[in-house]
Amino acid sequence: MSFSSFGLSADLLKNIDNQKYTKPYPIQEEAIPIILAGKDLLALAQTGSGKTASFVLPILQNLQHKKASLPRHVKVLVLVPTRELAMQVAEVFDSFSLNLPTKLKTMAVFGGVNINIQIDALQKCEILIATPGRLLDLMASRSVFLSEVEVLVLDEADKMLNLGFKDEMNDIFFHLPKKRQNLLFSATLNDNVDLLKSILLHEPVKIEIETEKQNLDLINQSAYLTTEERKGVLLRYLIKTQNYKQVLVFTSSTRKADNVVEKLNKNGIQAAALHGDKSQAIRTDSLKKFKAGEIRVLVATDLVSRGIDIQELPVVINYELPRSPTDYVHRIGRTGRAESKGEAITLLTIEDEHHFKIIQKKMGRKVEIMESSEFNLHGF
Ligand code: AMP
Repeated sequence: MSFSSFGLSADLLKNIDNQKYTKPYPIQEEAIPIILAGKDLLALAQTGSGKTASFVLPILQNLQHKKASLPRHVKVLVLVPTRELAMQVAEVFDSFSLNLPTKLKTMAVFGGVNINIQIDALQKCEILIATPGRLLDLMASRSVFLSEVEVLVLDEADKMLNLGFKDEMNDIFFHLPKKRQNLLFSATLNDNVDLLKSILLHEPVKIEIETEKQNLDLINQSAYLTTEERKGVLLRYLIKTQNYKQVLVFTSSTRKADNVVEKLNKNGIQAAALHGDKSQAIRTDSLKKFKAGEIRVLVATDLVSRGIDIQELPVVINYELPRSPTDYVHRIGRTGRAESKGEAITLLTIEDEHHFKIIQKKMGRKVEIMESSEFNLHGF
């Protein structure tokens, strides 16, 4: 199957070509025709599956012959759980909107940045990507109106519910017009998502894309047994001797992330921290630099373990084991994405071993644990 078989416009096909997408991913094969036909959709898919383009492309196609919006009345609303995902989705809309005959303006709005700039820019905006809290603030100040929304997308609905956005989401839904298209994307289906589905979707088509397993097949996982004291130097040893182009390191707390970064920088490895205690400007800047390859090591908390797409990231290192097996899978899933191979290394102490067994069992994969006490870490 090729992208041209969907009936997308020549301009959109050109933009797809510019993105070097040669053929649609499975989710795109399934979702694009459903969305083009104006139907509601429930898609069970992870990030990394290509889900963003699966809704962005048909939405842009369907908007091509629409009349211009009234000021501050958006036509498409995409709700997302995090600021990073908001920016990422907006980038995909922007890259596929280039040179389309009907100009469509996309904006991402989220908390932690100056609201006045967002208020001004919302004057003329067709496609709004928003985190729930900031959207409600903007609605309250009458900076944006939802009465003309034609398509609602909930991206990572399960994560939004987990983060406790349920009430905010209900407030938002209340302001939407009755007649609209609803697209719900979620990595998992639980009771809460089921409820959301029954409230929102009208005779939805359901599709399920199993990417997590495929993704895991692309990731070479290993673990090193070490001690808390030797972790820092082992991390530097691995980064230096393996000559990784880029490394994403996960810690469980913001303090530890800062601490690891400080030590790496002191030892001549260029690194930055990304976590919830950093200002939005710094978070955006670090992620942008890491994506552009300007920072070699990014040390993050689970804030970025989901939803963030980093092209061709060769390795993820778990400096600390996460509590939840799901978080482990999401963390390592930052590598081995979009059909390229990746490596995931976990640093374990004896205390972690039992919990790591549980993680392996839940994941359905065995991971080789290697001793690191023999390594000569002197000078690292
Ligand atoms: P997503 O799941 O939307 O975050 O997408 C994961 C990654 O796959 C992104 O880097 C996309 O640019 C890339 N991607 C999505 N669809 C395709 C495709 N059909 N061909 C090649 N890359 C793609």
